Order: sequence, then structure tokens, then C-alpha cells
Amino acid sequence: MALIVHKYGGTSMGSTERIRNVAKRVAKWARAGHQMVVVPSAMSGETNRLLALAKELAPAKTTDSYSRELDMLAATGEQASSALLAIALQAEGLESVSYAGWQVPIRTNSAYTKARIESIEDTKVRADLEAGRVVIVTGFQGLDELGNITTLGRGGSDTSAVAVAAAMKADECLIYTDVDGVYTTDPRVVAEARRLQTVSFEEMLEMASMGSKVLQIRSVEFAGKYKVKLRVLSSFTPWDIDINEEAVSGTLITFEEDEHMEQAIVSGIAFSRDEAKISVLGVPDKPGIAYQILGAVAEANIEVDVIIQNMSKDGRTDFSFTVNRGDYAKTIDLLNEVVLPKLGALEVAGDAKICKVSIVGIGMRSHVGVASKMFRVLSEEGINIQMISTSEIKTSVVIDEKYMELAVRSLHKAFELEQAPA
Ligand code: ADP
Ligand code: ASP
Ligand code: MG
Repeated sequence: MALIVHKYGGTSMGSTERIRNVAKRVAKWARAGHQMVVVPSAMSGETNRLLALAKELAPAKTTDSYSRELDMLAATGEQASSALLAIALQAEGLESVSYAGWQVPIRTNSAYTKARIESIEDTKVRADLEAGRVVIVTGFQGLDELGNITTLGRGGSDTSAVAVAAAMKADECLIYTDVDGVYTTDPRVVAEARRLQTVSFEEMLEMASMGSKVLQIRSVEFAGKYKVKLRVLSSFTPWDIDINEEAVSGTLITFEEDEHMEQAIVSGIAFSRDEAKISVLGVPDKPGIAYQILGAVAEANIEVDVIIQNMSKDGRTDFSFTVNRGDYAKTIDLLNEVVLPKLGALEVAGDAKICKVSIVGIGMRSHVGVASKMFRVLSEEGINIQMISTSEIKTSVVIDEKYMELAVRSLHKAFELEQAPA
């Protein structure tokens, strides 16, 4: 008997019929003798619907008081789906109870709309499991120190599930979704994309952080930190397929490199439209400018990604970086109002119509020329590279958003990702 955490995404929970299917699948696992904790997302479209209602009443604001209410609102999506799943499980003849994040509680910091989990109290959940109940814990949400409901950022139910698995020391966390595993790139963009049987933790971390939304990055970080056995698999197989077959399907995230059988140089291509570029132009070139610009941005809780400082000319330089597109307006305002006057820079310019495309692979550590091949492929397609950033196992480029699909497809082909490695 094992303790297993299942997570079901929005599409998997998208209708009462699908919720019934989830319940039947979970019941199959429970009847096989496992203790089951299930973390559902809101029904598909629900989070968007709720957030759009807020926008109808007031344009998006970045104040804490507004963000607090967004979390209060969005958290209802998961509360509803969790209760529905508990009801469906009871209808299957199983004892089941659902808890909202605040009831567990799942404690987070107070960064509304992108809170981080700090701790999870497992007593109540454990007692229910011991009593033979299937426990449903809402994805995506938690409780801050002051008793406010918080949410974990879009896609945050993955993180809830892995964090619950870590806190409960679960034997495995299974992320059920609308594709049957992690692919070489998003199969909705490249039809030839291939499912990976295993992907190393480090590669998954890079892919998630570079925009592959199949797993939220923080869920991968949690899995790495607490060595949670993590698998991504399909919720669309018939619920009654053989449990042993199901248990080894999909993609396993591996922690040991030698377990990583598929030694391709590039394992995957990630992309993100979720970016915007900001440049501070004509900055007097003296010590401390990076700190003055990025320090202020960090203080406003805005994450910065690719950074470039140009060579200075006549004592002035240009400083560019990318932020999440959702933080674009806030960052421009902050720079214009606070940083520009202090710094004596000339102008703040921005471009929200960019994207980032990344090639990821452990093999890049030991092979030269991988990045240059990427640049060659893009140049052959006539795609201009605006920024470049590299790490040991990835190379990312920032390009015009309109070339994103072309770039991803050409790179997928050039690195022969549609073919299984020999
Ligand atoms: P869920 O609602 O189950 O959390 P998401 O929509 O968040 O599902 O994530 C699954 C989606 O991630 C897939 O439908 C696919 O379009 C997308 N995706 C992006 N990159 C990849 C990848 N490398 N492998 C598989 N899916 C990917
Ligand atoms: N419902 C939330 C979202 O749409 C969380 C999740 O699905 O993981 O982002
Ligand atoms: Mg998701």
C-alpha cells in the first residue's frame, strides 16, 4: 500500500462527466489499496471567467487590496471543483472529504496572485487517510499569516500537488493532464513533437522556467528539493485501464543522470509569449546602475529574466531586460516615476510583442556548437535575435512574437527532435 497524490488539471475536471471519470479513476487506485490525496484544478475556463468578471468591474490594478480580492475570487474555482469531486467519489461508494487550502492549512507568504507555499500542516489529512477516506485538497491556494486567502500563480495546482506530496512524504505524485506526458515541445504547436519517457529534473526545471506550461516551475522546484517522485500522464485514457500499465505511463521526472536513457544533446524546446522587453536608454555609465534599476524592480516583487547592458558610448549606456508580460505596465510606471529621475537616464522604452524561445538539454554541457547551430537556424529563417541568454543546459533567444511558431518548428526539425534517439 502506498500514499499517492493525484493532480487533475482544468480540462480533466472540465465537466461533470469528466469529474465522474476522475472519481472512477481515483476509486480504482483507492480500491487497489492506496491512500489517496487528490488535488484538482478549477474546471477549465473557470479561473479565466472569474478574473474577467473582476476586470469588468475595475481595470486590472496592482494594489495589494485589489490583488487580495482577486485571490479571494479565484480560489472559489478550486473550492467548487474539489467539492464536486468529493461528491462524485461518495457516489462511487467511497468515503471522501474535501478541504480548501485554508482548512488544511497550506501556509503561504502574502504575495497575492503569486504566493509561495511556506508550510503544510498534515495532521488533518493524515487522520482522514487513516480513517479510510479519500482526501481532496484544493489546488492553487493557501492562507497567509494574517488569515487572507492567497493563490499561487497560474498553473499553481501543480505546485499544490507536489508540495502536498512532499509534506505527506507520498510515494508518488501523478500529474494527470490533457496530454499524455512531457513532449519535446508543446505538441499543440509542433505536431511531430515526441513524448519523452523520462526527462531529467534539471531539464524539466529549465523547460518549465522557459515557458513549458505542462508543469508550473515551482512544482518542479519542490520535486527537486524534496525528491518527490513525479510523473506526468494523461487523464484521457479510459479510467478502467490496468492500474499497473497506468502507473508506468506518461513521463517520469528522473533525478539521476544515468537513469536518463535518452541522451539527446537537445531534449526539448520551450517558448513563452508571456514576456515583455524593457529598455532604459541613455543611462549615465557609472557603478551601481544595474542595482539602481533592478533593485527597484525587485523591491516591487517583479521578476526579471534576460538582462543586457550595452557598451557605453559618450558616457551613456542602454540597459535592457525582460519581465513577465503581466508586470509590463507596472515596471514601465515604476521606472518612469522612480528610477528615471534618480538615475538621470534619458528614456524608458518597451516592447510587449516579443517572445522567448529556448533549447534545453543536459547534453549541451559536453557539446560545443549547439548554440551556434540555433543561431544559424534562426538566421536561415530570417529571424532577428534581440537578446540571448545561456546557462549550462539551455540557450534562450528573445525574438519578435510573430516568429515564435516558425522558430520553434525550425529548431525542432534542425535538432531532429521528432526522431527517437538511437
Ligand atoms: P492542466 O490544466 O492539466 O494543468 P495545462 O494546460 O496547464 O494543463 O498544461 C498542459 C498543456 O501544456 C498541454 O495541453 C500542452 O499544450 C502544454 N505544453 C507545453 N509544453 C509542453 C510539453 N513540452 N509537453 C507537453 N505539453 C506541453
Ligand atoms: N486554476 C488555476 C489556473 O487556471 C490553477 C491551475 O489550473 O493550476 O491557473
Ligand atoms: Mg497546468
